[in-house]
Amino acid sequence: MTRESEIRLSPGHGLHLTDMDMWLDSRRPKPWAFVSHAHSDHVARHQKILCSPITAHLLQKRYRISHERICIQDFHERRMRGKFRVTLLPAGHIAGSTMLHVEDSDTGASLLYTGDYKLRPSRSIESACLMPADTLIMESTFGLPRYVLPPSTDIEHQIGAFVKTSLADGATPVLFGYSLGKAQEIAAILDAQNLPHCQTAGVAAMTDACRQMGMNLPAPEIWRGEMPTGYALIAAPQLARQRDYARIPHARSAMLTGWALNPGARFRYRCDAAIPLSDHADFPDLLRTAEWVKPRRILTVHGSTREFAASLRSLNFNAWSHHGGDQLELFSDFL
Ligand SMILES: [Zn+2]
Repeated sequence: MTRESEIRLSPGHGLHLTDMDMWLDSRRPKPWAFVSHAHSDHVARHQKILCSPITAHLLQKRYRISHERICIQDFHERRMRGKFRVTLLPAGHIAGSTMLHVEDSDTGASLLYTGDYKLRPSRSIESACLMPADTLIMESTFGLPRYVLPPSTDIEHQIGAFVKTSLADGATPVLFGYSLGKAQEIAAILDAQNLPHCQTAGVAAMTDACRQMGMNLPAPEIWRGEMPTGYALIAAPQLARQRDYARIPHARSAMLTGWALNPGARFRYRCDAAIPLSDHADFPDLLRTAEWVKPRRILTVHGSTREFAASLRSLNFNAWSHHGGDQLELFSDFL
């Protein structure tokens, strides 16, 4: 592939599509940016934002970003922006999370940016959808071979067993997960097992915001300091540092995160259990993504970028960390 037939990226910090003058998930305010989802590490007050309808709603609810700044595009809808054909695709990470696919109508060159994503199905959101592309920019949060998640059925069983055992022991099960995304997935998992639960006000606000956009989630019961008998509580991890938490009788806590795969995770999180429920792709799914998209070049962003790019190169992909630092390895190939 010649340089002329690539979707060009500007050198330097941040991801910038040169010819569209569009930034991808920039942390700093820009004139025109794609925002893949409403987690705070992907959001800034840009002058103009491209995103999915649910992300637009969440940006307004969470960050009070006004409607006028937001340009909404539906999943799977193709829209021409100059000479570029732009498609937004579900990313399977959290509500509204989106991948960006861009194709140059003159040269046929294409690019897929995954943002945060996962391939395994969720109970609360639409599954990810990939498209082939010449250039793949992919997250690599779990880009080390040791990050292999158990099957979803096992994880859901662990969550149900933790709640039932805690209740049988007379304890109050408290499940910690981010208030947007993880918490709604936990609620859906408990619901599927007929396990009653309530949510802190912060979590319930995000659940309500998702419901307002037509997502199929049960109406949250809000925790107001009293735990009904036989209930589990879903909360953001910050609750553990608040006075209200100390007032819960016999609280027994579990952190729900992909980092639970790390040895000693429950000690690190100061919880009674750590269960590997993740909204990111694990190592095998990251590799599967590259194999499916069949790109001619890959840039890795977030997490173990250099290590994962090296794993991809060992499989004959032309893959590099966007943060650099692995070019020495490129040149050492020629020594
Ligand atoms: Zn995220």
